Amino acid sequence: MNPQVLADQIKAGNRRAIARGLTLVESLLPDHEKLSLELFRCLGSAPRAYRLGVTGPPGAGKSTLIERIALAWLQGDERVAILTIDPSSQRTGGSLLGDKTRMGQIADLPEVFIRPSPTGDHLGGLGRRTPLMCALLERAGFKRIIVETVGVGQSEISASYLVDRLLLVALPGAGDEVQGLKRGLMEEIDLVAVNKCDLGQAKATVALLRSALRVFRREVPVIEISALEGSGLERLMEAIEEPLSSGAYERTRGELHFFEEFFVESIKRLLLADGTRWSELRKKVASGEVDFLQVLPEVCGHLEQLAEDLKHP
Ligand code: GDP
Repeated sequence: MNPQVLADQIKAGNRRAIARGLTLVESLLPDHEKLSLELFRCLGSAPRAYRLGVTGPPGAGKSTLIERIALAWLQGDERVAILTIDPSSQRTGGSLLGDKTRMGQIADLPEVFIRPSPTGDHLGGLGRRTPLMCALLERAGFKRIIVETVGVGQSEISASYLVDRLLLVALPGAGDEVQGLKRGLMEEIDLVAVNKCDLGQAKATVALLRSALRVFRREVPVIEISALEGSGLERLMEAIEEPLSSGAYERTRGELHFFEEFFVESIKRLLLADGTRWSELRKKVASGEVDFLQVLPEVCGHLEQLAEDLKHP
């Protein structure tokens, strides 16, 4: 694979190239990581997209709503990329959702790129590589990115660093669920849509959510909608786009965080290059043969040596 050729194709908006690029940057294999960095070097920089996170339990109506949001953005001439959860990995009440076509109205549109998360992992789809996937989509020219996820608050990475706004799709009558919402999630969401209000029972849920959010002292809009029938969507779109119109969203959100994380990861990889010695040390620490303070000087010495080698290659 030639990274420069792939980069040129991605920048030209070639869908197959974008898909290949995503597979590459998603990979945790060392060879792929190297290639992926090379690919980003060839891709250069790009303006940050507006990134919207959409979370909520299976069956809440996330994909129905995402389709609506994407259609609204398409009307404004914005191409939309969607990182979504593979429905075949989701179960609701024992029944698989994979048998229906998700986002059927937009799936085949040339202005829309949908990437199902192949792992649909138990962590909820926000993996260590999701920031890179977003960065690649930005370099492919997308100005709107939707990242769907379940189980925010227990993901490998914090949604608040990855997306500009995190939207929770909740169900009416889900009182117990509201009570049980994870603290991590409550701290991260910026916006709540109580969906399926055409089925009634929404008022109580809205009140419950508002009081639950007040505990966390958060000014979070809670909006009743029906993704199916379209009610409440105008208000919801306004709330979603508020940071865009007021210019209040931070284009550098998360940048420093991920920089530091990748930096630490790179150092670790350098240290791990001597895999045997490293696993010996780990075994010794794990078995209690030595305590970690005894091996730390060796690790630091190793780092200093690496730094020296860099100075005098
Ligand atoms: P997801 O698993 O969160 O992506 O949920 P889906 O978007 O696949 O929706 C699950 C089911 O709820 C589907 O049968 C949808 O047609 C239905 N649904 C979604 N939004 C609404 C709504 O506003 N009202 C009603 N009555 N049904 C809805």
